[in-house]
Amino acid sequence: MIERLSDEALLDATRALLKRACDVEADLLLHLGEIDERKLYLPRAYPSMFAFCVEELGFSEDAAYNRIFVARAARRLPALIEALRSGKVHLGGLRLLSPLLTVENHLDVLARAAGKSKRQIEDIVARLAPKPPVAAAIRKLPEQAALPIAAAARVEHRPMVRPLSEETYKVQFTASRALRDKLKRAQDLLRHQLGDGDLAEIVERGLDLLIEKVEKERFAVGRKPRKAVEDCAGNSRNVPDPIRRLVYERDGGRCAFVDEEGRRCPATGWLELDHLDGWARTHEHSPDRMRLLCAAHNQHAADQLYSRPFMDRARSTCPGTSRGPTS
Ligand SMILES: [Zn+2]
Repeated sequence: MIERLSDEALLDATRALLKRACDVEADLLLHLGEIDERKLYLPRAYPSMFAFCVEELGFSEDAAYNRIFVARAARRLPALIEALRSGKVHLGGLRLLSPLLTVENHLDVLARAAGKSKRQIEDIVARLAPKPPVAAAIRKLPEQAALPIAAAARVEHRPMVRPLSEETYKVQFTASRALRDKLKRAQDLLRHQLGDGDLAEIVERGLDLLIEKVEKERFAVGRKPRKAVEDCAGNSRNVPDPIRRLVYERDGGRCAFVDEEGRRCPATGWLELDHLDGWARTHEHSPDRMRLLCAAHNQHAADQLYSRPFMDRARSTCPGTSRGPTS
């Protein structure tokens, strides 16, 4: 009976329970991360991991959000799980820190956060990602900014994508009259399908079309293959469609540059096709010797392949060529 425990025994028992609770919480996050990774919520008819956690596992919304967020970060940085298991950093603290943690800084930051309250961890977050003072943001605005009210109104109009929950976002930006008219026109054209025409639905449909179009133009994704990769011999600088598509899809539409520590560049924009051996040298488009790189890494790769002074000369004699003779 708990009432009969001595004070000391009660405190010891509580510490032991807490140790077990930390162990359980850490293991729970590992399991949630794996479920999330396998997307096991989908065959169970949940639209998201968040809905699965709240509805099937009975977490509160806050607990679900924190656990999913940290579980996802822990898949990247397993030390988060150990910080939780050892009781050094609590779940709420890890939730605040995880967006700012990198492979390079996370061990140091976790050590600093050990044993700290949520409030103290907020201070660590503020030091890691200082927010510019509001006044500075207003000074950067155009001449109307002299009027504080106009400035404040303009700040409100800055583009914003803010999460409202795990699966919903508030998106806000300033639209031109032309864009407003186009939205209205799309709404009218889609009225027979969408009724009152939910704006988010219309924008999403438009973006689906745009993404499909650009992926097809740039990387031949979704284009009907007219010839196989093996039949793509030729001496043209242009990379044939089947090879563009193969490399884009194999590299997952993301820069494939990996540094010495094994970290891969996360860029998914400004992607270009790179020839590892230099097209100018081999005149071959061999998918095994090609990869997707962001523009910055493509340039970096060219600098390494052709030596920096050569590339600087190539770029200065040929303005607009950032990559030089190959990419
Ligand atoms: Zn990159």
